[in-house]
Amino acid sequence: MAALGIALPQLPLSASEEPFRVPPTLMFHSKDRWKLPHILEWLREHDYESIGYADLLRALRGERALPEKPIILTIDDIAPSYVQPYFLAMAEEVEKVGYRGVFAVVADQPPQRAERGWAILRELAARGWELDTHTSYHSYLPALKLPDLRDEIIQSAEWIAQATGYAPISLIAPYGGVYRREREFDLRIFEVAAQAGLAFVVGIVGGRFIPPDAQSPYYVGRVGIGRDHLQTGRWIQNFHQGA
Ligand SMILES: [Zn+2]
Repeated sequence: MAALGIALPQLPLSASEEPFRVPPTLMFHSKDRWKLPHILEWLREHDYESIGYADLLRALRGERALPEKPIILTIDDIAPSYVQPYFLAMAEEVEKVGYRGVFAVVADQPPQRAERGWAILRELAARGWELDTHTSYHSYLPALKLPDLRDEIIQSAEWIAQATGYAPISLIAPYGGVYRREREFDLRIFEVAAQAGLAFVVGIVGGRFIPPDAQSPYYVGRVGIGRDHLQTGRWIQNFHQGA
């Protein structure tokens, strides 16, 4: 197209298109397992339907619509070296209400090691859980030099894909660490995530909307678990007002 040498008219695309609303996203750790049943009950009562980042990506590409009230449930810090049984109990709890979620995997072992742990992760994926990378060693990414950043992101994504047969599509940043300084992204993280074939970088702060002119990997945020299901429910309902 550009070979014709014709300047394309400047269309105010971003002015006419709405930013994409990131579905409310909850960040669970195993310590939150006691609150999970009540939160799931609250979500069911309020007609939420669970989706994963793969669904979000298809929606962004216009390939499918999201449910009217989507929710992304993420559970952090599962690792092939030792799969803490709490995680499996949480997965079963989520499945009981017909939901699925996303496990943020710390891929701390190569596929040829920790065979039992990888087999458990493979089985979770076969049950409909999305496996995304939470890096290899759970480092605070902005503090790393580039080679270490590549190990953390690219190696972990490769290990998950090789060991389970499911390629991750998100980098879930440890500690939500994606900023070089306040509100200024560490762009190296996004570049390396793109090299790893990832479509999302998941942090905590912000990331409530995806601007129409945004490029992959898209930044999306999450909210933690409140003191109980009622507070968590308020945070879900206020997700798009959050910072
Ligand atoms: Zn973590």
